[in-house]
Amino acid sequence: MSTINSVKHVRFLDLPKADQQLVELAAEQANYAYNRLLGRWAVGAAIRIHPDGEENFREALRRLGAERVRKGIACMVGGSNVEDPDQIALCECGEKVALAATQSMGVGDYCEAIAIVGKREGEEFDYIALSPCDTCRGRIRGYGRRSGMNECFPILLAPREFREDDARVIVTTLGELQREIPFNVEGIDMKQQLYVA
Ligand SMILES: [Zn+2]
Repeated sequence: MSTINSVKHVRFLDLPKADQQLVELAAEQANYAYNRLLGRWAVGAAIRIHPDGEENFREALRRLGAERVRKGIACMVGGSNVEDPDQIALCECGEKVALAATQSMGVGDYCEAIAIVGKREGEEFDYIALSPCDTCRGRIRGYGRRSGMNECFPILLAPREFREDDARVIVTTLGELQREIPFNVEGIDMKQQLYVA
């Protein structure tokens, strides 16, 4: 016996407008699913943001959206790491989030470079750049393959103080990264003097 009848049933058109729009967006997002492996399910998801978050939301749109295109700035998709100590399974690196976001935006086949900036609060790590963890390298490899760049996929690793004269940014490729720059939780010191001599 099904128990589904105990669940409230509402016709789409009887839903509040905001819920309809949310359902429509989720369905639209499903159009961008990358499901070629098994080709069985295209799943969309949508998240409604509370009005308290509206200002941040609009600011994000301004950062990413038409204004940049008008100014001739390249299209970019950003990601931030998510690290919840109570939910280790939900932790995601910024690289992964950004790569996944490109998929959600229907541009997962068009990634052409990734930059990673290491920032650590409250410590003397201002010149520390971070290199991707092994899982992210795998993700980058996947998106690099889809773009056709494979091992040549460009990667830039920058410290927080990348604007400082004595700071440096690593400009490398996935292949080179794999050969030359192992993952190191301590990061990489990018102060210039280490490279002079
Ligand atoms: Zn990672």
